[in-house]
Amino acid sequence: MYNRWCNLKIHSFVTDATQPLPVDTLQLGRRFRAWPDEVLREVLPRWIGCQRFIYNGKVAEDRLFAVMRRMALRSAPDEAITTPLDQQYSQFKSRELSPWLFEVPSQILRNGAYRWMGAKTRQLRGLAKAPRMRNRNNFDSVMITKELFRFVRVTDPVSGEVCEEIEIGTAAKPIGRIRFKATQSWAVPNSIVVRRGASGKWFVSFTFEEVLEQPLRTTAEIAYELNRLDNAALAEVTLALDRNVRDNCLADNTGRQFDLKAIERERLARKEVGRQRHQRSLARKQKGSSNRRKCARRIACKHEYAANVRRNFAHQTSHQLASDDTFRIYALENLKVAAMVRRPKAKQDPQTGRWLRNGAATKTGLNKSILDSAWGRTKDFLSYKAQRRGKLVVTVPPHYSSQECAACGHIHPGNRNKDRFVCHRCGFKAHADHNAAQVLKKRAITLIRSGALEQAPKPRKRVKFTKNKLGCDTSEACSDARPMSVEPGVRRPLASNTPADAAGEPGASVPDAPGPQRAIAGGAAVKRSQKQKLALCPERGFGQSESRRQRETRVLKRESV
Ligand SMILES: [Zn+2]
Repeated sequence: MYNRWCNLKIHSFVTDATQPLPVDTLQLGRRFRAWPDEVLREVLPRWIGCQRFIYNGKVAEDRLFAVMRRMALRSAPDEAITTPLDQQYSQFKSRELSPWLFEVPSQILRNGAYRWMGAKTRQLRGLAKAPRMRNRNNFDSVMITKELFRFVRVTDPVSGEVCEEIEIGTAAKPIGRIRFKATQSWAVPNSIVVRRGASGKWFVSFTFEEVLEQPLRTTAEIAYELNRLDNAALAEVTLALDRNVRDNCLADNTGRQFDLKAIERERLARKEVGRQRHQRSLARKQKGSSNRRKCARRIACKHEYAANVRRNFAHQTSHQLASDDTFRIYALENLKVAAMVRRPKAKQDPQTGRWLRNGAATKTGLNKSILDSAWGRTKDFLSYKAQRRGKLVVTVPPHYSSQECAACGHIHPGNRNKDRFVCHRCGFKAHADHNAAQVLKKRAITLIRSGALEQAPKPRKRVKFTKNKLGCDTSEACSDARPMSVEPGVRRPLASNTPADAAGEPGASVPDAPGPQRAIAGGAAVKRSQKQKLALCPERGFGQSESRRQRETRVLKRESV
């Protein structure tokens, strides 16, 4: 047993009491409601805008570099072509074109480039798509590092209470203060993010490290322990949850149901009516007017309320489940929420070309219902809360769980009639949700017994690499090869070999990536086959530079085929 685990450094198997257990830390995140003072309410939106400007500048620059790499490859196909991949931002500062950038602290601008680098790194690792241009709706926060803020202790003049405020600015030149309401414990972080939501409310969020008394245990460790339990004990500690779309609730195998409170449902319905009314009113208002802005804010408030209710439900449910000491495994269906709420495909009559009904309106209602139940979020919250308590959350295949009999395993669509379940073979009767939860529980136990969870975890899934009809990849600059809004100038020759470039080499950072994924290039060479495909893609921006002769040859080739 020890030999099997010795190379995994599993702490729980350390039996020597004289040895102190290794200390683990956990990154915790906090988000508090905040109230900046009058000066900061003026200054912070400007900082947000400048940080966004740098971010967008880096996005545009990166796209330009991608185009340049492809152009250069066409003239010299065998040379490795690299472009800079760094956090420089000085090229965007210009006394004539962007004088406002000189009015904000340089750390704010640097953090804009830093945020872009974070997004770019995620892309190079295959975890996200290329960073895209942001606007004031989807980039409404500013990241402030510790040179520009400090927590100060103040006494409330009215109540006499001692609380903390965040002072923004350098120690020598403070600009203003942000009051915040801490609803949970926190520690001083290295950086904070101040955000103004669409409803006009301010929030301050940050992460900090918490030192755990006991180290966190891995999935493999917990699964190994659970697999050693006998059948009865394992069944006792397993709880399965079935997610019911129709009634919009969660049901477990013990017969409990988790649902929003009646008053919350009523309020949500009322707010929804109001939101629709405001939405109609918004459509009549003149664009850019202050009335329209006010109306948009009212709509945002209604959305915010609904989001708060859903998040609260997910937190309360996951806490109730995770803090129940009876259970050690939670089984959930492996549902692809993003795929389930996708819009249905447009349907076209093959003869007339007319557009047919595709059930989009019905699907919208179902999507709303799926999103309202906050499934994905409940699962995410439960996962981390369970992990902190040394428990396990597993996902099991959901197929036919509502039609399968929990007693005999017979699968038939006729077994289920709305919320009643009666087995056609053995006559087992139950509430449909509870039957489904019991089926899921059986599947979870099978999963634990199979030992699959004790293996090393699978590598994280990468972003889907899609190809359009022209055989051209749709990621990166291929689809966005537009000229830059701010001309950065070429800072270095194309073939520079800085460490940053080496880090940007997808082959280096993603050694196990399959073929086409390596071509998601950023500061790196594009594969030869990819390059050939790209050269045949005249609709894309860089295709404009294709010479007339090349174009004619291509057309001739196509015709001869
Ligand atoms: Zn049966």
